[in-house]
Amino acid sequence: MDRYAVIGNPVAHSKSPEIHAEFARSTGEDIEYGRLLASLDGFAVAVERFRAGGGKGANVTLPFKEDAFRLATALSNRARGAQAVNTLRFDRDRIFGDNTDGAGLVRDIRHNRGVALAGKRVLLLGAGGAARGVIAPLLAEHPASLVVANRTPGTARALAVLFGRGVEANTYAELAGARFAVVVNATSASLAGNLPPLPECVFAPGALAYEMVYGMGETPVLAFARTQGAGVLADGLGMLIERRRSPFSSGA
Ligand code: NDP
Repeated sequence: MDRYAVIGNPVAHSKSPEIHAEFARSTGEDIEYGRLLASLDGFAVAVERFRAGGGKGANVTLPFKEDAFRLATALSNRARGAQAVNTLRFDRDRIFGDNTDGAGLVRDIRHNRGVALAGKRVLLLGAGGAARGVIAPLLAEHPASLVVANRTPGTARALAVLFGRGVEANTYAELAGARFAVVVNATSASLAGNLPPLPECVFAPGALAYEMVYGMGETPVLAFARTQGAGVLADGLGMLIERRRSPFSSGA
């Protein structure tokens, strides 16, 4: 039986084991897929131990996507561009890293929510591993603008430098007075029941408020969005499921 796991800290919230078990049932595959809690400074050790124990591959969740990028010995183009990895495949002599977050997010927004991104003003909250993975796919949809806001401003600025034209870095305070048709929460604030310090009125009337966290009901961002006139509220379960439709690229 092939062994897989999702590795993170925290990791108890992840629904990846249930979702992969369901996919395996529907395709007749015989797999074991578990949750692996790694210590904050122990990602590489946890991966090596899992691999040595026969693990075939892993999904990577917070806060390890940049560690996974550094650990991989071969990368898909999209993982190389994002400098973040959410999927590891253990081949005999290499660790192949891919990033399927952006494909999953865009597919969920476009196909499941029926919201086009072209020409829209898009706000991305957070500048961690998940934000890195979704920027290029969001830009590929040709939004009117893409603003990244983060609690630690330097991290958002680094992403604006990495992705170049088309990405603007703001502090939360600098968002005052701006309005966005699409707001994606790529922070982990909701896991602790926190609301990023969003000014009022950032949601344009009828806006899409997209929360990457899933399975927690109405998170503080979604509750705030509802009171601010957002028209479509979505959590990240669809993103998680749609990621599965995005096959490993061959490393090209
Ligand atoms: P990281 O740990 O890499 O980054 C966390 C980000 O959240 C940082 O930008 C951090 O800001 C910000 N943050 C944390 N707490 C707060 C707060 N109280 N207020 C404002 N900002 C805050 O995590 P990831 O990027 O890997 O993941 C982010 C979230 O997205 C996770 O909750 C994860 O579960 C979810 N996710 C869901 C997916 C899905 O398929 N649905 C896929 C990928 C991720 P700072 O830089 O200042 O520390």
